[in-house]
Amino acid sequence: MLMRPKPAQPGHGRNTLRLIPRTALALAFLALVPANAGAASLASCAAGLKKQALRNGVKRSVADKAFAGIKFDEKVIRFSRSQPEYRTPIWDYMAFLVDPERIADGKAMMKKHDRTLRAVEKKYGVDRYIIAALWGIESNYGRHRGDFFLPHALTNLVCAGRKSRFFRRELLQALKIVSRGDVRLKDLTSSWAGAFGQTQFIPSTYRRLAVDFDKDGRRDLVRSIPDALASTANFLRNAGWRSGQGWGYEVRLPKGYRGTSGRKRRASLSTWGKRGITRLSGKRLAGSRKAALILPAGRKGPAFIVYRNFNAIYSYNAAESYALAISHLSDRLKGRPAIAKAWPTSDPGLTRAQRLELQKLLIKAGYDIGEADGRIGPITKKAIKKVQRKHKMKANGRPSMKVYKHLGGT
Ligand code: CA
Repeated sequence: MLMRPKPAQPGHGRNTLRLIPRTALALAFLALVPANAGAASLASCAAGLKKQALRNGVKRSVADKAFAGIKFDEKVIRFSRSQPEYRTPIWDYMAFLVDPERIADGKAMMKKHDRTLRAVEKKYGVDRYIIAALWGIESNYGRHRGDFFLPHALTNLVCAGRKSRFFRRELLQALKIVSRGDVRLKDLTSSWAGAFGQTQFIPSTYRRLAVDFDKDGRRDLVRSIPDALASTANFLRNAGWRSGQGWGYEVRLPKGYRGTSGRKRRASLSTWGKRGITRLSGKRLAGSRKAALILPAGRKGPAFIVYRNFNAIYSYNAAESYALAISHLSDRLKGRPAIAKAWPTSDPGLTRAQRLELQKLLIKAGYDIGEADGRIGPITKKAIKKVQRKHKMKANGRPSMKVYKHLGGT
């Protein structure tokens, strides 16, 4: 994975998945660090990082402001300990990442930035619908670029010993990007893990692959949409994107399929065809092109044939669910239909609008969860657990369709 640290995957954007905490661990961590001692060691650790930044050519004016007023940030540490992609069911993930709102917004944004997207597609040979989908999932088309001030978030991680080497390097790169005048320091709002800008590059990726597409002399992936979209295309091209080839498509498995699957098990289409796999139309797969079969929810769920380009998307954020969300959203932006086969669950996931509505319903039912903001954080999860217990469901805090309906959602 080029963009982000393993294994604590931040995912992308600030979507709600990221907000699933390991509360117990976070509390245990806090208990180990007395408040004052923590503040003192953070301050001296930050001072050390600042010296290192200056030695590495970061401008003093940048370093002074970057580290000023730094505080211990419990949220950053908590997020660094959770790996949401691996715990959230795929149907939840898909339901809110590829929801009607993101499809409609994407179509509007593609229209608005049509010239830029076509120019980027032409120059880099990457499907503009994929670029738009990635933009939509990473930052909700530039609207949400992160809740954290990057220098403070990464300093917290380094000083708490969370992948210190990795985050130190990223922090220094970020400050160099600012020193060079590409991005303003105050624009460095990021994910907890330092991904920032319209398409959430981490600083080292930024340094390697960001491009100045609008030719104003600065590679600004925060304020320049052309720079951000072109940089994403540049990333995908570098990751092996092949022009004119799709990512893949949904297929149908033969009844009782027991054959192989997995992103790395590549075979020719005709081999898959011999195993009885067909297009949704029933047409048998044929030809020598290499592809893999992925079953994100096992044999009972939707099945997909994926090509090399799927792996290019995967390298942006190493999770199959992520690559599938981008791929499927790009299809929807093209006007293609939803995934045909239902996910194998009796309790589907919720869209973002439904998550917000769920919170409003919780408030209406008397649960004190503060303000409804559509984000399923620890407080909302606690309320959901109460609802689940009341209805004899497994109390895991998952914002699901059944919970939504129990609360009167329609
Ligand atoms: Ca520029």
